[in-house]
Amino acid sequence: MSKDLNKNNNSNELKRDLGEARSLNFLEEIIEEDLRKGKYKNIVTRFPPEPNGYLHIGHAKSICLNFGLAQKYNGYTNLRFDDTNPVTEDVEYVDSIKNDVKWLGFNWANEFYSSDYFNELYTFAVTLIRKGLAYIDDSSPEKIAAEKGTPTEPGIENEFRKRSIEENLLLFEQMKNGKFKDGEKVLRAKIDMKAINMHLRDPIMYRIKYAHHHRTGDTWCIYPMYDFAHGQSDSIEHITHSICTLEFVPHRPLYDWYIDNLEIFPSHQYEFARLNMTYTVMSKRRLLQLVNESYVSGWDDPRMPTISAYRRKGYTPSSIRTFCEKIGVAKRDNLIDISLLEFCLREELNVSAQRVMAVLHPIKLIIDNYDENKTEELVTENLPNDTNNTRTISFSKELWIEKEDFLETPVKKWFRLAPGAMVRLKSAYIIRCDSFKKDNEGTVTEIHCTYFPESKSGHDTSELKVKGTIHWLSVQHAAQAEVRLYDRLFTVENPAMEEADFKNFINPNSLEIIHAYIEPVLLKAKPDDHFQFIRNGYFYLDKDSKPGALVFNRTVTLKDSFKQ
Ligand code: ATP
Ligand code: MG
Repeated sequence: MSKDLNKNNNSNELKRDLGEARSLNFLEEIIEEDLRKGKYKNIVTRFPPEPNGYLHIGHAKSICLNFGLAQKYNGYTNLRFDDTNPVTEDVEYVDSIKNDVKWLGFNWANEFYSSDYFNELYTFAVTLIRKGLAYIDDSSPEKIAAEKGTPTEPGIENEFRKRSIEENLLLFEQMKNGKFKDGEKVLRAKIDMKAINMHLRDPIMYRIKYAHHHRTGDTWCIYPMYDFAHGQSDSIEHITHSICTLEFVPHRPLYDWYIDNLEIFPSHQYEFARLNMTYTVMSKRRLLQLVNESYVSGWDDPRMPTISAYRRKGYTPSSIRTFCEKIGVAKRDNLIDISLLEFCLREELNVSAQRVMAVLHPIKLIIDNYDENKTEELVTENLPNDTNNTRTISFSKELWIEKEDFLETPVKKWFRLAPGAMVRLKSAYIIRCDSFKKDNEGTVTEIHCTYFPESKSGHDTSELKVKGTIHWLSVQHAAQAEVRLYDRLFTVENPAMEEADFKNFINPNSLEIIHAYIEPVLLKAKPDDHFQFIRNGYFYLDKDSKPGALVFNRTVTLKDSFKQ
């Protein structure tokens, strides 16, 4: 894979890119040309996941592409579960895949399963045997591999290749009927053992496998190989443009060979670059290891790159669609910076997420000149600069503020609290720090301030000028919640490309769990509500929440704060 880093950290650059109308991508060009020539009446695409894991953000790219193209050209898309491998598949995965595709905002025209075509595929195989284009090979897997040759040496034709059509028909039927043991025989296409393309050196079409299938049960003990099933399933469904990732380029001649020789609907395969993203891994096999070996809490652990994890963390479907649109359709493998995905989300949440106050790392602030029996209900905006959309927040003598908003010895350009310094409390008053208390270890435990009654937000007649505004919560009114702060799951950009096992690069600090003070309004948070905890990031209710024990996930920070 080329290491063409498509990095785009500059948000102005990104904004410009997103605003630009784009030219047609190469698939749109192909489709428009096909429509112009009248090659197809209707554009039909498919999304063909193997139900052996949860969908990840790479699949989202494929989903947006397949469904997006069909939508654009008034066609339709099938959801086809590519379930020809009985061993790794599971109904749990089928359900999660359907849920994820729907959540992303797409509707499939038909829900199909490759296993629904087992009868037709069997008949296709018989057709090729009858044409003298397929044979039963009794060789061991080792012998078959050895005879296949290498990219620089041609393969060898073995004695089974000369079997008669009748014998092949009989043996294939016996294979189907369970006469032979696992791996004892295979059905191979008779193409060319000297072909430069190794995939054409008599590829295996069917193998014997006594395995229970999640849909067909124990009906079959022979299962078609991917190459024999995929193109034929496309053809059965009259898929016009079968879009897959670049590793299938060398399979295309075989895809065409089967369709040509079976003389069935001419589906065509087109390839694009798979999506790879920094600081994560993008293969179900690796993601499954993270789950099975408990590096994460499950497929939807918010640190995972799965669609279900992004949903749980608080991503919106539209931000993922925008991201997929933004990265375009490449013909060369590349590595997309994860901050582009985060950027797409921030752009959206910045406009829509309700602003609330939460103090993640609290320290107590006492307003010495504020009456201890007094509470004020202050008006604050739910969205910036929207004075019609407000709520009230309780203010009193004792407040929580963020520890990091106070410095005993201020640094240059410090506009927050420090002895003698003044700040505005958001939607409340200007205060001045007069003193502070420390415990025996020297940690600041309490800050004492004076407030200026005439500086009340919205009614400020004080003429005091301050540069900093900080958020706060009233101690007696604040509620509490668990807050989960996430960081990258890996410490290196491309863990899968490292020599050592990718799990050696897991970030040990990818999850920080804290107990925070939150505004009482958050106790009414519902799934699907997105919040900005002012100055702390965007947050979303986690499914682990229970009444009286809420949990919030940080969806994303406010800025790209990742320390390189
Ligand atoms: P993985 O390697 O993660 O298991 P896969 O290709 O085996 O992926 P499938 O379930 O077979 O997963 O994929 C369904 C569709 O999604 C295929 O058309 C595949 O090409 C596409 N796809 C998978 N991964 C990516 C990716 N990273 N970027 C774009 N498309 C992808
Ligand atoms: Mg696959």
